[in-house]
Amino acid sequence: MSDLHQEALNLREELVRWRRWLHTHPELGMDLPGTAAYVRTQLEEMGYTVQSLCGTGLAALLEGSKPGKTLLLRADMDALPIQEESGEPFSSQNPGVCHACGHDTHTAMLLGAAKLLMAHREEVCGRVKLVFQPGEEGAGGAQAMVKAGVLESPHVDAAMALHQVVTRHNVPSGTLCYTPGGTMASCDVFRITVRGKGCHGAAPELGVNPIHLLCSIYQAIQTIEFCEKKRQRPMALSVGQIQAGAAGNVIPGDGFLCGSLRCFDTETRTLAKRRLREIAEGVAATLGGRAEVEFSLEMPPTVNDTAVGNEMFTYAKEVLGPERTAYLDPVMGSEDFAEILTRVPGVYFRLSMGSWEEGYRINSHHPAVRFDEDAMPNGAAVFAHCTLRWLERHAFES
Ligand SMILES: [Zn+2]
Ligand SMILES: [Zn+2]
Repeated sequence: MSDLHQEALNLREELVRWRRWLHTHPELGMDLPGTAAYVRTQLEEMGYTVQSLCGTGLAALLEGSKPGKTLLLRADMDALPIQEESGEPFSSQNPGVCHACGHDTHTAMLLGAAKLLMAHREEVCGRVKLVFQPGEEGAGGAQAMVKAGVLESPHVDAAMALHQVVTRHNVPSGTLCYTPGGTMASCDVFRITVRGKGCHGAAPELGVNPIHLLCSIYQAIQTIEFCEKKRQRPMALSVGQIQAGAAGNVIPGDGFLCGSLRCFDTETRTLAKRRLREIAEGVAATLGGRAEVEFSLEMPPTVNDTAVGNEMFTYAKEVLGPERTAYLDPVMGSEDFAEILTRVPGVYFRLSMGSWEEGYRINSHHPAVRFDEDAMPNGAAVFAHCTLRWLERHAFES
C-alpha cells in the first residue's frame, strides 16, 4: 500500500464525520448556505483562504512551494428534492431533501484531498484549485462557476472530478473506474408545443386536433434514432410527458410534449436537434397546425481527454493498486462537469461505493439509496496522489 493511501485511510473518521454532517443537512440547487458555510469552515481550519463564487460556490487555492501548472479539482455539493428513506441513523433532517446522488461523499472526499495536499504542500509543483460547486442537478452550477471565472486567475491547465457509482456487478466498493473518451452523454431537454384549432368533438373536421399532431410528431421523431443516425453512435431519445385537452368531447386548441435527447458526439447531437425541429414543424404543418421546439437544457457530453485521462488512471493504479481500478462502460446520464471538460482537458472518474454483490442494490436518485463510506479514503487518495504526480510531471512544460 502506498503511503498516501495509508494517510487517506487514517482520515476515515474525519471523512465520515464531514460526510454525515452534509448528509444530515442537505440543500438544493444554487442556494446552499449551510453547506457552503460548513465546507468553508473545514477548509479554513486546514489553512486555506476560501473565495465565494456565484453565491454559494467555493474555490480555494493551494500554492505549492515549487513552480508549475494549475490543476482544478471539483466536487459538487447539492442534494435532490427527495424524501429520504434510507433508514441511516444520520438521515436528512430537511424534509423532502436528500443527498441521494452522493454529492455529500464527493464533497467529503475533496475535503480529504485538501487536507492531504496541505500536508504535502512541499511537494506541490504549481497550484491546486479546489472547487466546490452548487447546482449540479440541472441548475447550471458548473456553467455559472465558469462564467464567474473559476477557470481563470490563475488559469487552469487541467481538471479532475469523480462521481460515486453503486449497484454495478463485479465492481467492488472502493474501485476507481475510468472510461476513455466519452464517459457520460449530452443531455438536451426539449419541449414541442403544438397549436391546432379547438372545436366540438362531434365535428373534428372543423378543427385541427393537437392530440393528433402530438401523436404524429411522437411517431415521426423515432425515425431519428431508428433510421437517420449512424448505427455505431449511441443515442437515447425519449418523451416523458405529453399533455393536451381536458374533456373527452372537446378538441383542445393546443398541447405539448417534453423529452430528452442524449448522445456522445457532436455530429449525432447536431443531426438530432436539427431533425427534431424539422420533423415537428413539418408534420404539424402537413396536418394543418404549427409546432415550436424549445430546448430548456443543453448540456454537452462529458468527454475525458485521452492524454490527461490515461495519465491520471496510471497514477490511480499507483496509489490504490491495479486491483482497485477498472474500466467502465459509458453511461447515458449526463453531468455538468462537461462544461469544464469542453474548456479544459481533464478526466471524470467514477468510484464504486458499493456493488450489487456487496448488497448495494438501490441506485442513486432513489430515496433508499445507501453508499459505502469505506470507499471514501480511496477517493481522497486518488485526488491527492494524481494531483501531486500530474503537477510534478508537467512542471517544466510551457
Ligand atoms: Zn444526480
Ligand atoms: Zn450526481
